Amino acid sequence: MHTSATVIEISNLTAGYGSRAAISDVSLSLTPGSLTAIFGPNGGGKSTLLKCIAGLMEPWRGNLLVLGSPVGVHAKRVAYVPQAEQVDWSFPISVAEVVMMGRTPTLGPLGRVRAADHRAVADALERVDLTSVAERQIGELSGGQRRRVFIARAIAADPDLYLLDEPVTGVDPTTQEKIMNILDAEAARGRTVVATTHDLACAAQRFHDVVALAEHVVAHGPAHLVLDRSVLEKTYGGHLVPLAGGGVVLLDDPHHDHGRHEGHE
Ligand code: ADP
Ligand code: MG
Repeated sequence: MHTSATVIEISNLTAGYGSRAAISDVSLSLTPGSLTAIFGPNGGGKSTLLKCIAGLMEPWRGNLLVLGSPVGVHAKRVAYVPQAEQVDWSFPISVAEVVMMGRTPTLGPLGRVRAADHRAVADALERVDLTSVAERQIGELSGGQRRRVFIARAIAADPDLYLLDEPVTGVDPTTQEKIMNILDAEAARGRTVVATTHDLACAAQRFHDVVALAEHVVAHGPAHLVLDRSVLEKTYGGHLVPLAGGGVVLLDDPHHDHGRHEGHE
């Protein structure tokens, strides 16, 4: 297990597409065993930040250390789960085969699958309640099951750092609960978990820390300390309506597709 002071150390990171920045001057430091939600508006740069940490995207500027080293050095100890829409669900591969992909970095000589790999896959499937569908093609699964297959692939890799892009978006409440319980347990045993979400309630209730991201980091810390009206206004651009009793409701920006239709069961 990773024991140094920070698992992710980012300073002044800027990255984007074409000539347009998606994240600007992001600085962030995350410690081992933290369970952090990155939340913010659609297009706020959540996926981009995760891709930079996962080494899938080259930042324009800034510094990024993962598990104490430049991105890529400890790639085997990092598990990245993409947003569900980025996966080709028609690909003819079974649930168990997808989960075995999590073992690829640790397979024996010539990629030989050993007993320990089969055991890790079986354990991961058990953790996410998918043992009974292990031999099914991924395309046959429901939305919530599909999401859990990729969580299982990450678990099978036995990583020090989980990077999950919208792991609970569009899944039913039971699946959301299951996934959050797993992530919580992984953090409790010292693994670092970073997940994006646009569900502010989930971020506030189920994570230790939250990062409000709207191209810039607006706030980072325990939800009850950093989530106030001014942070939410800066994050969502002022589309807030205060409620009697002190809460706020976010009004959808009509110019943004908030993606709520995606991946429902
Ligand atoms: P989020 O995950 O918070 O919704 P993203 O990181 O996906 O935000 O996107 C941040 C910005 O970068 C948005 O303006 C989005 O349109 C743009 N963007 C994301 N992916 C691409 C891409 N592959 N090509 C061009 N622009 C992109
Ligand atoms: Mg995204």
